[in-house]
Amino acid sequence: MRGAAVQKPGPENPDVTLITPTSPMTTPTHGGRAKCLQRLVRLDLPVPRTVALSFESVHQIASGYRPDVSGILDEFDPNALLCVRPSSEDPDWGGPGAVLNIGMNDARYVDMCDQIGTPAATEIYLRFVMNYAIDVARLDAEVFDEIDGEGHDALSEALQLYEEEAEEPFPQDPAVQLAEILQSMARAWEGTTARLLRQAKGAPVDAGLGLVVQEMALGLGSGECGSGVLQLVNPATGQPQITGRYLSQSQGREALDGGTASIFLEKDPRGPSLEELAPTAFIALKAHAALMRARLREEMQIEFTIENGNLHILDGMRVERSARAALRIVVRLAEDGIITRQEAVMRIEPRALSELLHRQVAANSPRDVLGSGIAASPGAATGRIVFSSEAAQASAARGEPCVLVRRETSPEDIRGMHAAAAVLTERGGMTSHAAVIGRGLGLPCVVGAANIRFQVKRRSLVAADGRLLKEGDEITVDGTNGQILAGSVDMIEATLDETFRTFMSWADAERDIGVRANADTPADAKTALHFRAQGIGLCRTEHMFFEAERLTPMREMIFAQNPQDRQAALELVLPMQRADFLELFQIMQGQPVCIRLFDPPLHEFLPTSRSGQRELAEALDIPVSDVIRRIESLSEYNPMLGMRGVRLGITVPEIYDMQARAIFEATVEAAREGITVVPEIMLPLVSAKREVELVRGRVEAVAAAVRTENRADVSYRLGVMVETPRACLRAGDIAEHTHFLSFGTNDLTQMTYGLSRDDAGRFMSEYVRQGVFSEDPFHILDTDGVGELLKLGAVRGRAARQNVVLSICGEHAAHPESIAFCREAGFDYVSCSPFRVPVARLAAAQLALADKIK
Ligand code: PEP
Ligand code: MG
Repeated sequence: MRGAAVQKPGPENPDVTLITPTSPMTTPTHGGRAKCLQRLVRLDLPVPRTVALSFESVHQIASGYRPDVSGILDEFDPNALLCVRPSSEDPDWGGPGAVLNIGMNDARYVDMCDQIGTPAATEIYLRFVMNYAIDVARLDAEVFDEIDGEGHDALSEALQLYEEEAEEPFPQDPAVQLAEILQSMARAWEGTTARLLRQAKGAPVDAGLGLVVQEMALGLGSGECGSGVLQLVNPATGQPQITGRYLSQSQGREALDGGTASIFLEKDPRGPSLEELAPTAFIALKAHAALMRARLREEMQIEFTIENGNLHILDGMRVERSARAALRIVVRLAEDGIITRQEAVMRIEPRALSELLHRQVAANSPRDVLGSGIAASPGAATGRIVFSSEAAQASAARGEPCVLVRRETSPEDIRGMHAAAAVLTERGGMTSHAAVIGRGLGLPCVVGAANIRFQVKRRSLVAADGRLLKEGDEITVDGTNGQILAGSVDMIEATLDETFRTFMSWADAERDIGVRANADTPADAKTALHFRAQGIGLCRTEHMFFEAERLTPMREMIFAQNPQDRQAALELVLPMQRADFLELFQIMQGQPVCIRLFDPPLHEFLPTSRSGQRELAEALDIPVSDVIRRIESLSEYNPMLGMRGVRLGITVPEIYDMQARAIFEATVEAAREGITVVPEIMLPLVSAKREVELVRGRVEAVAAAVRTENRADVSYRLGVMVETPRACLRAGDIAEHTHFLSFGTNDLTQMTYGLSRDDAGRFMSEYVRQGVFSEDPFHILDTDGVGELLKLGAVRGRAARQNVVLSICGEHAAHPESIAFCREAGFDYVSCSPFRVPVARLAAAQLALADKIK
């Protein structure tokens, strides 16, 4: 025996169980495959004899105990060939590959040559020798490259090479073969690489492996023989359709070289089908598949063999499926009364919905990866590289899809972003400008692509492997996984069909926390409504000025040095804002709209390019040099902590006065059109109660003026964005003056960690790789640190004002983990990018259902 391991003391043959309808068998002790086979046995399906080894037994085998394989072999016909397959708790956790044809040896080969002919018998023996040599005896696969004979000669050469390399003849005793195979599979499971791979898929450290040993139904005989898989759905679409494949030994042997041909399952004019070759078996197969669907309450793939026209069911596996198929499958199962609607809702992973809402790279498409960054906005798009907003617009005008490549984006790039099919930036993280806008627009976006060199001036990129890409070259941005791919790839389209709507309505019936959308423009608001958001939770009013013709008045307002200039700029902006708000109220049809007063980080709104500076100089009728001087005087060392949010509102109060007036006048106008709105006005970046008092006084004065001027009743709610650590700590004081508190976790994360949102992308992947942070905290809410501040703010806010409405509106809001956290902390709603609303709705429904089940 190879390796002559020292036999350790211990149980000789622990827990080897023949699978019968009543044998003790559970998924947590024997794995999903063993349990599923027992279910098939219980359904009286023609399953070959099978024994199962428990997790415990396999663990002992891996630790050196030699199983009593003769006890296992006694369970089977002495002439049978056997196979061993892995049976882990979750099939996604992988496991060692199956080993087939165990028991094949020289004597068996001679018999089989008589039964099925030399070519087929040779093929089976040769495959077993190679499989055993590489996966069990761990010989180099290249050893067998030397084989130059064919058929029987190849087999002799393989046996010879095995003997030379392993320094012992190929084992002929089935008991030795089986013992070695069991040990090799058990050890493979406990190896470090396998463990890390399955842990990455969510397996616990001590996840166990079971093994099943099954008699093979080889398909030997003179009638129709072969093997295949069959399922009742199309795994790409989820539509009912018989799919799978069948390899006919009989048909294959008629072929010249003994190779087998994959043939059609159902009758097909293009060639022979299983239905014609083995009609009775085919009818039985369909009936078994339908029975399995109904009783196992899942779309199952049947693995089968046909022996002389007789059917054997070797295994049943959950059909692997695309995200869109998964949705259709659960909806059909529920509509057919096989599972409940609640179960259907629980079976879909919320993040998988993103795949349905955007175009994606097709799963089987080859990927030529140029580099990668942070997957900031999901979906994928192909286009030619452009390095400026102008070039993106020109490309769109020519009808040519393009990818806008920038070091980082700013409001000046908005037109380019609108025109581009995707965005790629060198800098930035999950909450940087490109990421937030990309998600809002539903535009695939990768930011912080640190392993690609951006030579923006030379209009080229250098890929991670040194390849040079120039403006005009075609690339694909995969915003779902953060990869940049060379050229174009196959895509699958977004789907929002009736099945999707039905499914989401079932989810909404369970949900107990509100979901609103962050929407700044009419297009965002329409998307929000389309995805059934329950209102707007954050309208970033400075984002309403990203359009080129609006950016200039916005800049004039910021630039104004005296009250007259400011008044002139504000008079330009007021009607724009009033029209904006009215349009939002009209689109949202009376649903709540929460408008955040200006929070323009100045560096994002000052022109950085020479052309932008010239445009502003023209608008202000001053020399460019004056513009540059003023930009210098306004620039800040740390603009994210500078003259932002309510600080601007306090120091230049006319700006917030103008916005309050625009909101109230739009409310009056909407009321005249029959739309009743109680606008919500939110103050950003608050850190002290006095800030709220000061702004509240002025807002109330504007409301009073608008009431009088219009002889109309205008009511509103005032709230605070809690996004500084101090606002969390003093939430009690602040809540006394406000109707609602909305936690802005982007800034709160930035300030809690002392990390810049715009620069963290540079080192974030390294930090996550080294385990400093378990996740990018701008992506997944840091429940330990930032979360503690949220809880504190919520408790203190509610203690001071019991009915204060609590919500979260940072980019974390759509994540199932954050929603769980917010539900537990008693929040009223979450507000996220419009395209993520369905993900949040489903995640919230699942949390409510999980609580009910508990
Ligand atoms: C936040 O800080 O969490 C937030 C939503 O606001 P912004 O991203 O506009 O700073
Ligand atoms: Mg903020």
